[in-house]
Amino acid sequence: MGIKAFYFCSQNDKTINIMADYTQMWTDLGLDHDNHNALLDNLGKAYQSIFMAQDNRPEGMSYFDFVMSEAHGLRIQELRDEQKAGRKIIGSFCVFVPEEIILAAGCTAVGLCAGADFAQEEVEKVLPRNTCSLIKSFFGFKLGKVCPYMEVSDMIVGENTCDGKKKSFEIFKDMVPNFYQMDLPQTKTPMARHMLKQEYKSFVEKLEEMTGKSISTEALKQGIATVNAKRQALRRLSMLRAANPAPISGLDALLINQIAFLDNPVRFTEKVNALCDELELLVKESKGAKTAKAPRVLISGCPMAIPNWKIPTIIESTGAVIVGEESCIGERGQRNLTDDSADNLNGLMDSITDRYLKIDCAVFTPNQERINHIKEMKQQYNADGVIHYGLQFCQPYIMESFSVEKELEKQDISVLRLETDYSQEDMGQLSTRVEAFVEIIK
Ligand code: SF4
Ligand code: SF4
Repeated sequence: MGIKAFYFCSQNDKTINIMADYTQMWTDLGLDHDNHNALLDNLGKAYQSIFMAQDNRPEGMSYFDFVMSEAHGLRIQELRDEQKAGRKIIGSFCVFVPEEIILAAGCTAVGLCAGADFAQEEVEKVLPRNTCSLIKSFFGFKLGKVCPYMEVSDMIVGENTCDGKKKSFEIFKDMVPNFYQMDLPQTKTPMARHMLKQEYKSFVEKLEEMTGKSISTEALKQGIATVNAKRQALRRLSMLRAANPAPISGLDALLINQIAFLDNPVRFTEKVNALCDELELLVKESKGAKTAKAPRVLISGCPMAIPNWKIPTIIESTGAVIVGEESCIGERGQRNLTDDSADNLNGLMDSITDRYLKIDCAVFTPNQERINHIKEMKQQYNADGVIHYGLQFCQPYIMESFSVEKELEKQDISVLRLETDYSQEDMGQLSTRVEAFVEIIK
């Protein structure tokens, strides 16, 4: 019997599983069937109990449920069909890799960050135990042969950001046949900007060499327009969450931000806008995921890659609602549009460089912009408190969390700093701390 992908379909409030068979495709990609089956099985159960069990979900979420259920099935099939038609698939781990350029080169971008522990014993043979879960996770997905996105990618871009990623990529590059290294600055000086622009130019050259085609001004403008439209749709979604009651749960909003890294960008944008139309009506009718009395939480910190839903699940199970994510899978990654007014390639490359250099990742120093942005988001989304999420062993975010806490407390903003990994072992302890925090901000 072949391995199946299943998806959820809500019908008359009942959830049914519909099976489709992708066994041959997964074999062709070199996935390990037993491991992959185990991953899908766990993912399906988690999705049922976390997402499908929520009350008052907007109807527009059914599309995103469908995408999730087919994330290893139909979406991979689509990417393979694109490959057959001549497109290259570019996988990456960081929001510093410009999707505008990838699209302009006639390629498709996919995110490869992973949010679950896998093959940990194997991973700890090649990486130190005290490596952050995100890095261990993508190593585990590779060693366990369970990630079809990694296997379908024609190029895997490794971005030198934190020390963990930088040094782990020295090992990872020998585990995949198609690694491309991108150096990123850690300051925002004119020299750093120059370096970033040069890196992006080298990336353009690499893609041109790979595809055999030059990137034209028109193609780059079109790439910018497509990605800007996606960011505008996500911005619209974020702004709707400022309403009280918030029209959508933080879990569902996070899921949409996670899917932004996997789905076709044009179709995704249409579906987010359709969902926003529905949410606007809900806001007018004062209907929400929770009541208007639900404590409102802003999350800030490390990115939460699929299927890392641990902290949002804990927070929302207390009755609180998450109203924003100051994260790369969230506002930090998606805010700021790219200026498309230049009429030549060099001018557009300048705009792309300027747009990306505004990302206030904790690998930058100094990084006061990020703290300012957290304060702004707290105001904008009417949050009652901020939960800072740091992945264990992530030096940039955990170190920065102390300054974040200090500065927010100066303004009497309640902050809870959490440090955790992808395991379930500390769920009880985390729940107790989050419940106590939610009581304080009520
Ligand atoms: S947190 Fe930093 S390193 Fe990670 S995705 Fe964001 S910009 Fe890249
Ligand atoms: S979570 Fe922190 S340590 Fe891990 S890859 Fe991201 S920045 Fe690096």
